[in-house]
Formats: sequence, structure tokens, C-alpha cells
Amino acid sequence: EAAIALLQERIRDVPGHPNPDVVFKDITPLLADPVAFGQLVDLLADVCVRLGATKIVGVEARGFILGAPVAVRTGVGFVPARKAGKLPGPTLSRPYDLAYGSGVMELKDDALAAHDRVLVIDDVLASGGTAEAVICLIRSTGATVAGLAVLLELGFLDGRARLEQALAGAAVHTL
Ligand code: IMP
Repeated sequence: EAAIALLQERIRDVPGHPNPDVVFKDITPLLADPVAFGQLVDLLADVCVRLGATKIVGVEARGFILGAPVAVRTGVGFVPARKAGKLPGPTLSRPYDLAYGSGVMELKDDALAAHDRVLVIDDVLASGGTAEAVICLIRSTGATVAGLAVLLELGFLDGRARLEQALAGAAVHTL
């Protein structure tokens, strides 16, 4: 409880970023506080261990910052899910919708094996479009998605409902 309260204190609301209709959740104050960041890594590592994950997929870009220390802490491999054109090929690609426009997520095609159990980590679950694309990519490799862990979820955007089919019974773990 105290850990969650500290995390909440360190997330800043920024109205009007990146456009006038959005109140952006800024996690940089949390990252700058080593106690809060350490507690966040501990909590995510607990999820990783509980699920028996063998790989963490971090979603560009803040999912890299959160996912990499959790991978080191728990002794599992880290795999980046990146926006189109960043990973050297061959890659698997999947387009997704954004609030304004669209994007493409990619994974290295040999990054995961069919026996892997994957925990996906990102900072914020909003509409669910980004996570849905990443989860579908992971499943296309034959690996199992063990769950999605995020620091926070914008519940009013209903991303959880959008992910239900892609997650196929795996859970969303929101701190
Ligand atoms: P979605 O695809 O609409 O669920 O958006 C989630 C993606 O956008 C995640 O990768 C987040 O990092 C990013 N995102 C959306 N809203 C916010 C926010 O308020 N703060 C930080 N990241 C956000």
C-alpha cells in the first residue's frame, strides 16, 4: 500500500500534452526517484515470478525502461517490441491504431521460442491498441502470453476490454 501511494505521488498529470484533448501521465518524476523506481521494479518482478515468465517483452519506449531492470532482477531475457524500422531484420510486423493515426510494432522473428512464457511490460495502458499489436505478434511466434503488466491504466478508455480476445485468458496486472 505504501509503495503504491509513493508511485502515485510520483506520477504527474500534464494537461494538453501532446495535444489539447489529452491529460498526459508523466512518469519521469518516478524514474528520477530511486526509492520509487526500485519499488516499481520490485512489484513488477513479483508479477514476473508469479507468472513463471521466461521472457519479458518491453514496449517502446517506456516499456524498455521498466522491463529491462525487471528482466535483470528476475533472471529472464529481455526482448524489445519496437516501432517500425528500428530493428534489424528479419522482423514480424503488426499495424495498430492510435488515437490520431496509426503505427506498426515489430519483433525480431527469432526473439521468442514456442516454449517461452512472456510477460509484456509497458508504463500505461490507454486504448489498448499498442498492447494488442504486441500481444498478437508474440502469439504469432507460438510463444504463450503469460500476462500484461502496466504501471497504470486509463480505465475510461476501456483498453482492458479491447485486449480480452488477444490475451486469451491471460490477465492484465495494473499496479
Ligand atoms: P494505447 O495504445 O492507446 O493503449 O496507448 C498506450 C501507449 O501509449 C503506451 O505505449 C504508452 O506508453 C503510451 N501512452 C498513452 N498515454 C500515455 C500517457 O498518458 N502517459 C504515458 N504514456 C502514454
